[in-house]
Amino acid sequence: MEEKTNVSKELKEKLFLQRKNGYNRIEETEEKAIFDFAEDYKKFLDIAKTEREAVCEAVKLLEANGFVEYKSDMKLSAGDKIYRNNRGKAIIAAIIGTAPISEGVRLCAAHIDSPRLDLKQNPLYEDNELALFKTHYYGGIKKYQWTTIPLSLHGVIIKADGTSVTVNIGEDENDPVFCVTDLLPHLATEQMTRTATKIIRGEDLNLLIGSIPFRDDEASEAVKLNIMNILFEKYGITEADFISSELEAVPAFKARDIGFDRSLVGGYGHDDRCCAYPALRAAIGCKAPVHTTVTILADKEETGSDGNTGLCSSYLRYFIEDIAEALGAKGRDVFSVSECLSADVNAAFDPTFPEVNERNNAAYVNKGVCITKYTGSRGKSGTSDASAEFAGRIRRLMNDKNVIWQTGELGKVDAGGGGTVAAYIANLDVDTIDMGVPVLSMHAPYEVISKLDLYMAYKAFAAFIAD
Ligand code: MN
Ligand code: MN
Repeated sequence: MEEKTNVSKELKEKLFLQRKNGYNRIEETEEKAIFDFAEDYKKFLDIAKTEREAVCEAVKLLEANGFVEYKSDMKLSAGDKIYRNNRGKAIIAAIIGTAPISEGVRLCAAHIDSPRLDLKQNPLYEDNELALFKTHYYGGIKKYQWTTIPLSLHGVIIKADGTSVTVNIGEDENDPVFCVTDLLPHLATEQMTRTATKIIRGEDLNLLIGSIPFRDDEASEAVKLNIMNILFEKYGITEADFISSELEAVPAFKARDIGFDRSLVGGYGHDDRCCAYPALRAAIGCKAPVHTTVTILADKEETGSDGNTGLCSSYLRYFIEDIAEALGAKGRDVFSVSECLSADVNAAFDPTFPEVNERNNAAYVNKGVCITKYTGSRGKSGTSDASAEFAGRIRRLMNDKNVIWQTGELGKVDAGGGGTVAAYIANLDVDTIDMGVPVLSMHAPYEVISKLDLYMAYKAFAAFIAD
């Protein structure tokens, strides 16, 4: 009897897909590396809450590690480390490989924009002696989640004379913060009968910014005047300067460990900095790659990748064409033999909401970096759907390099869906597959990921670009 059990156990191990918890598959020494990596990551989350701040941080890290800004007339040779900063909101970093560039490049593309509340271009108003900012939400959010939490304000204002002011207020412990108010339950009888999309409506996402009137009995809008006076004294701006500004309200809280075992990280904007940071670290740590490596940190993914800093624009194509030409190849020949990891998050299975997943094809916390062959919605609409051959190639590579990985789809069939930049890069004739970290509460002001999965994303990206 016992012998029979052993046979079936062995046979199952040989024939069945193994989906063990990552912590049962790693050495104890690796656990330390996992936790150490998360410490660096949390610092990055706190310092780079917007796409502009992420680019600033990336430039610092890249330059400290020998990368120089690429100029179009530069001569390039193997081992050169370069980057191109796209308008301070997106960045491409590359290391020239030892193989001819006509053999293709290894692309790793993550995004550095996250859902948030953008200020409107004429945001400031006073209503019943309270001063507020009007906002327009950015990306797909559950609007009610963005009320009654501390928010900080980040961005730039271009003044009438063309000079630029950088704003970052609410992150320092001594800074004030801002918030969107919500109705008290006592008086929410009507509100609570609305559907969830309308409990808080788009035009209800108003940021509370002050309440003291300017000292002048004659003045109307005295609270607004007082706020504008403070802003003039601090930044030298007038109300019209908001028209040429990009100001983003984001959660003011810092990234923290979650759980008694500290295995998880809670924070704002894991999507997609939990892929962008590992991709950046992999690029920095990459020594003398065979194929040219190209790491892209893109903007505007959350609004569909349009605009000149999103990946639907031509800036990636121009960059590859420029370096191909500098190395004596044609851009289109390079793309056709290139490979890409679209480094973006997937939804982690949440035991509180099991009904949106099909258990055999969901991604789970602590089961490693998630390979997603296709995304899209309603019959794979809007996806690139990686080929079996490319999925096979990536699977072999992950196994060879001891990366803990899993496969997962974005929710069960017809539960909803979504997309990544994978389709836009695949459309350039590049073999592309999605790979990233599973996230709980994705697009909420406070998202959760696993430290193990984060580290495995780093290992995966490092293995891919070095291969
Ligand atoms: Mn994403
Ligand atoms: Mn997203």
